[in-house]
Amino acid sequence: MSNFRREDALSLLYGEEGISDSYIDYKIVLSRITEKYSELCQARRIALPGPDVIMEGFGKGAPLVTFTPISLSMKELRASFRDILAAFRDHRVCTADVCEWAREESDDNFLKGITESVITFDLHALKDLSEATPFDQTTLILASRELVKPFFHFLSGKISGTLPLEHWREGYCPICGDAPGFGRFSKEEEGKRYLWCERCDFEWPFQRICCPFCKNSDHKKLKFLTGNVREELRVDTCEACNGYVKTIDERKTGSEAETIYLKENTASVYLDILADEKGFSRLLPPFQEVAISFIDDFDDKKK
Ligand SMILES: [Zn+2]
Ligand SMILES: [Zn+2]
Repeated sequence: MSNFRREDALSLLYGEEGISDSYIDYKIVLSRITEKYSELCQARRIALPGPDVIMEGFGKGAPLVTFTPISLSMKELRASFRDILAAFRDHRVCTADVCEWAREESDDNFLKGITESVITFDLHALKDLSEATPFDQTTLILASRELVKPFFHFLSGKISGTLPLEHWREGYCPICGDAPGFGRFSKEEEGKRYLWCERCDFEWPFQRICCPFCKNSDHKKLKFLTGNVREELRVDTCEACNGYVKTIDERKTGSEAETIYLKENTASVYLDILADEKGFSRLLPPFQEVAISFIDDFDDKKK
């Protein structure tokens, strides 16, 4: 996110209708953790593929992470996992027992397992991993998503602006492969549609009348729901796959300000509840093969 700290953006939401102060506090704590560990990633080298390789991958619908080797520091994963669980405990996302278990009993194999599973979207593996622990599956998915965010934020910051997005035609993220968390209809570009990945804070253009999950383009099956808080916020739904994505229509905001996705995504949590009540869900992207190495610690000077 450009020259505007995530925390400042979230602070603007205090007092807004449809969202509690404690939820904003929770999101601020998580965004601090993402920023802290993402900054630690800055010190390391990463071998980014050349433009031809990226173009070829994009043409096949392969996100960057499937053809870019990933190295993760165990030291950082251990520390960030502790911070995430402490935030979960403080905001009652998990119990103190779970947090205690994570601090005392979780080992490197468990951390590697959840990291790999969440990056590849292997929910069966995550379910198996949760069974030997006091975690319920939903909390473990939430925690592992937070665990990989700093690296993906670092990666998207490193490469954004250089990607040939005109070659990307998919509804999932061209960097990390995750499903879109939010979208916008651009005011400046007459309603041109963009999608946003929450996991790596990255935006890409996408067809206007098309479901990002199943690519259905039958407009009779593409509808939208609105809450009664802000008219520019809506949920785009697909009756072919029952997927949904929240969207802001910038043409209705009456403001020239750039959309800050993290803020709008947090502000519109009531729309996630509405979509869920109507039987829609944020569908999983396809399983992806990724080469991940775990390193004890980084010492780039010796390389
Ligand atoms: Zn992403
Ligand atoms: Zn669909």
